[in-house]
Amino acid sequence: MLEVKDLRVTYTSKRGPGVTAVRDVSFDIPDNTFVGLVGESGCGKSTLGFALSRLLDPARNEIHGSVVLDGQDLYKLSDEALRKLRWSKLSLVLQGGMNAFNPVLKIKNQFMDVMREHSDMTKAQMLDRISELLKAVNLNPSVMEAYPHELSGGMKQRAAIALALVLQPRLVILDEPTTALDVVVQRSIVTMLSALQRQLGFSVLFVSHDLGLVLEFADRVMVMYAGQIVEDKPADMLIETAEHPYTKALLKCYADPGAETVTLSGIPGSPPDLGAAIQGCPFAPRCANAFADCRSIPPAPVDRGAGRVACHLYRAEEVARS
Ligand code: SF4
Repeated sequence: MLEVKDLRVTYTSKRGPGVTAVRDVSFDIPDNTFVGLVGESGCGKSTLGFALSRLLDPARNEIHGSVVLDGQDLYKLSDEALRKLRWSKLSLVLQGGMNAFNPVLKIKNQFMDVMREHSDMTKAQMLDRISELLKAVNLNPSVMEAYPHELSGGMKQRAAIALALVLQPRLVILDEPTTALDVVVQRSIVTMLSALQRQLGFSVLFVSHDLGLVLEFADRVMVMYAGQIVEDKPADMLIETAEHPYTKALLKCYADPGAETVTLSGIPGSPPDLGAAIQGCPFAPRCANAFADCRSIPPAPVDRGAGRVACHLYRAEEVARS
């Protein structure tokens, strides 16, 4: 349903070479799949989400590669064709999405704005749809008569998710949608989202720095580091057999709340400067397994069963096998 090929995004700057936040990323997302995208802050996750939605200004950024949704390359569509596709095929919920509601309009009017612009629904149909969606996200339909300031943060974020589903998109991109909320509300929203995704059959790209949360709900997890996807696997496989040294290190930073004792370890060092050229593997300065090739040759993704890993350790295994 979504095919991304060699996507590269550079934020250009008059003062230097710019910052390449997404580096030749390729992946696909089938129908009816919950995909998690995880990584440390600044690794390019949000830039990837924006690039997939074609929300980055082409005058200020260099964007290469293709993003094909349902057979249409988003970067070849006219502005009008893209406008038609938004909401109906692709929608986006941001971390601060709940704060994007217009404070002087009732919730229902904000839903109706979208439906009026992008569909031919009558007013009665629109009100039915709003009521149905508010119930689906566990809100009372009377919320449609409220102004945003009358709702709690969790209620507003539920309403923002309902708004993203208003025209039954094929793909919903959620960029850290629960980070600003407390952990109890966060969990109830992701549980609700996961149930809705299965019930309605859309696909989700859930961007988060919380690997534990993503592993619990996602069908598949992509791990991002320094603008690249370094490991991409079914979630259960990633828990059992994480292979990339960065993924393994991330898993060690996650405390299982069910475990009797927990030993946590951080990842030494810092991610590389994405404004500078990167030689070899970007994780090499922090990797305990690094060897000579890692510092000079960029690792290409290697197929590993149902997943892919970009690490020289597995390239060496492939060569030995062939
Ligand atoms: Fe570590 Fe080398 Fe693999 Fe990079 S390519 S993760 S430095 S072993």
